[in-house]
Amino acid sequence: MRRALIAGNWKMNLGLEEGMVLVQSLLNQSSAEDFANCDVLVCPQMPLIAPLADIAGNIKIGAQDCGATDSGAFTGDTSPQLLASLGCDYVIVGHSERRAGRFEDDGLIQAKAGAAQKAGLTAIVCVGESEMERELGNAETIVASQLAGSIPEGSNAENLVVAYEPVWAIGTGKTASEADVQEMHASIRDQLEDLLGDASKIRILYGGSVKADNAKALLALKDVDGALVGGASLKAESFMPIIKATK
Ligand code: PEP
Repeated sequence: MRRALIAGNWKMNLGLEEGMVLVQSLLNQSSAEDFANCDVLVCPQMPLIAPLADIAGNIKIGAQDCGATDSGAFTGDTSPQLLASLGCDYVIVGHSERRAGRFEDDGLIQAKAGAAQKAGLTAIVCVGESEMERELGNAETIVASQLAGSIPEGSNAENLVVAYEPVWAIGTGKTASEADVQEMHASIRDQLEDLLGDASKIRILYGGSVKADNAKALLALKDVDGALVGGASLKAESFMPIIKATK
């Protein structure tokens, strides 16, 4: 049995006061039972990690990216060790907005995930095909090659989460069909099995326009262990029902 993970990716949204209000609202609107069913994670902008970790209670705090080494002359990067020392538990790496918009390749993503794991963080490694790749029937091949290139050797259920996010479903209101999501998640699990040995406990999240009205059906799929949520994680009214859908 894998414990669900509902992760909110705030991207470059929400300032300090808004972030504090949102975390407080999530705490006020949730019960102990909600946290019994799943881990709840929010990933704010870097400067909010420490102040939010101070008030987050049962909610976990994650970063949206990290540097590929512990320390050094890497202007603008953030050390995963520093993140861990500030109360961060998870870091998203290889989000499609960084793969496409910041030209990050599998090798860099693997190095970031490895550095995060070395610092004691859980790396959430994102993979996903473009619309054209799906139309051409190449979705599974593309995702398999991203996994092979970006998962650090020796990863396990404690330090790795995989997020399958079809690029065409992110922020568009389009979601993959339940059958396509389950098929891809099963294929990812098979590949993790080949790469790492036992993958039965590794959590695989679905991301791409997850909302209150589609969360229950997606989260009920056999190999879907949670969700990576963008837009709907920015308000308690839209994020809370997704957390409650894990019941
Ligand atoms: C994301 O940014 O990872 C994401 C899934 O966004 P959205 O939920 O808005 O599609």
